[in-house]
Amino acid sequence: MNRNHDVTLSDIRLAHDRISHLVKKTPLLKANVLSEHTGIAAHLKLETLNEVGSFKVRGAANKILQLTKAEQARGVTTYSTGNHGMAVAHIARELSIPAVICISNRVPYAKVSMLQRLGASIEIVGNGQDDAAQRCQQLKEQEGLTIIPPFDDRDIIAGQGTIALELLEDLPEMEEVVVPVSGGGLISGIGLAIKQIKPDVRVTGVSIAAASAMSESLKEGRPVEVPEKATVADSLLGGIQLDNRYTFSMVRQYMDRLILLSERSIIDAMVFLLENERVVAEGAGAAGTAAVLKDAETMKQSAAILVTGNNLDWQQFYQAREGEWG
Ligand SMILES: *Cc1c(COP(=O)(O)O)cnc(C)c1O
Repeated sequence: MNRNHDVTLSDIRLAHDRISHLVKKTPLLKANVLSEHTGIAAHLKLETLNEVGSFKVRGAANKILQLTKAEQARGVTTYSTGNHGMAVAHIARELSIPAVICISNRVPYAKVSMLQRLGASIEIVGNGQDDAAQRCQQLKEQEGLTIIPPFDDRDIIAGQGTIALELLEDLPEMEEVVVPVSGGGLISGIGLAIKQIKPDVRVTGVSIAAASAMSESLKEGRPVEVPEKATVADSLLGGIQLDNRYTFSMVRQYMDRLILLSERSIIDAMVFLLENERVVAEGAGAAGTAAVLKDAETMKQSAAILVTGNNLDWQQFYQAREGEWG
């Protein structure tokens, strides 16, 4: 591995300054009921309060702001299960840059209509992220658009890592951080910053048991694919890419453990957050809370739990609650 190409703490600090005019610091909520339930001091990092409802604006802003003027003028494109696409659309619009979002037909309707409102051009292609990724490649080759990757990219990872700087500032006594994992961009950035600045803080990842490409890849010792599944945590779907360059090795290096969750536990955590903490979280966004509720006895005393997104398909949520899944 070429060490010169690794993401560094200084990349994350620079990213924090670079994006600060587009991405505001998010609040850290003392979660009183969750703390009572679990016996730990639980804090919720409300990434749901970012514009367009997820942390993905951090990476998108950090990437797009570093394109040349000529690249920005030609435009950007991405494939996404939704939140990354929305973040790219939002940041592109803020900077007056054209954006084309390629998504699969599994993406919930709420996310598609949101993308339309954000003013992006939308292309719906195929059944999974692979088809959408191919279309992006075409747009790059034929029209000169820049692909903004969802996770396996230095600038994206550094952007997501800015969350760790805010956590360390707001919760200096933090002993554990709980982070949902899909492609691993989020936990790679956070893990890197935490282990450089305060290595004693435990970095706990969380995925869905039924479809965790990262978990299977860690077991196999190399990136592998898993079949996509219908899940209430749709933002955690998708592979880690067989040609993964950064996140697989960073997750191996910085993640201390990975907790796998059932559908039911995620739905219960969504309800718990709504009823007890007045926090709206989509499935992936509630996954950290689900892990804390499930494994409270293994958690350290002072924990920060990432609530990563709030783009909820309410219809799907009600159906899930009725027990169609789980
Ligand atoms: C993208 C996303 C994740 C996972 O982030 P990765 O960098 O792919 O691991 C978790 N929660 C939400 C809401 C997301 O949109």
